[in-house]
Amino acid sequence: MVHENEITEAEQEILERLWQHEVEGWPLPPGAEGEVVELGLHAKGWVKGGGLRLSAGGLEVARRAIRRHRLAERLLADLMGVEQEQAEEHACVLEHSLVEGLAERVCTFLGHPRVCPHGHPIPEGPCCKKAAASVEAVISPLDHMRPGEEGLIAYLATPQNGDLQKFLSMGIHPGDPIALVRKTPSVVFRCGHSQFAVDRELATQVYVRRHG
Ligand SMILES: [Zn+2]
Ligand SMILES: [Zn+2]
Repeated sequence: MVHENEITEAEQEILERLWQHEVEGWPLPPGAEGEVVELGLHAKGWVKGGGLRLSAGGLEVARRAIRRHRLAERLLADLMGVEQEQAEEHACVLEHSLVEGLAERVCTFLGHPRVCPHGHPIPEGPCCKKAAASVEAVISPLDHMRPGEEGLIAYLATPQNGDLQKFLSMGIHPGDPIALVRKTPSVVFRCGHSQFAVDRELATQVYVRRHG
C-alpha cells in the first residue's frame, strides 16, 4: 500500500482529476496527458500503460485522495463556516495534512458525511462501513426524527453556501443540542433556547446524532 506521505501534491492533484474523469464522468483537464507522462505515473504503476486509465492501485490511491479532499471541504464548511470558494482552496492544502488515520477521525467526528459542500459524494472509508453496521440509524436527517425526539447536530449537509450561512446566522452549529417539535406544516425544532420553523428541504440538510 502506498503511504499518503509518499505522494507529492502534483501527483495527488492529477490522480484526483483522472479519478473524477473515470468514475464520475468529469471532463479531463487540458494537459492531463502531458502531466501523467511528466510525473511518470505509468512507471509508478498508477496509470495503465498506453493511456490515461488508472490501474487498480491508482484508483485506490486516487479514491482516498478524493475522500480526504471532500472531507477537508466538509470540515471547513461545517465547522468554520468558510465560504465555498475559499473552502475549495483551503481544502486543497488541508487534504495533504489529512493522513489516513486522521481522515478517519475527521470523518467520524463529522458523523461520516456522505457529500461534500458541493454535493459530490465522499468515498467511504473503513470508519463509515463500521458505523453503518453499528449506528447507521443513529445519525439521520432532522426530518427522519420523531416529534419530541432529541439529539446533537452531527453536521450540516448544505449544497448551497447560502443555506449554510442561513443556519449559522440562526446560531445553529454542529454539536448543538436539537429537539424536533413537529414536522407539519413546516419542520419546527428547538435548538438552544430558540425555536425555529424551516421548510422540509432545509430540514433534510441537518444531520442529527440521535440519542438512543
Ligand atoms: Zn466539493
Ligand atoms: Zn466515516
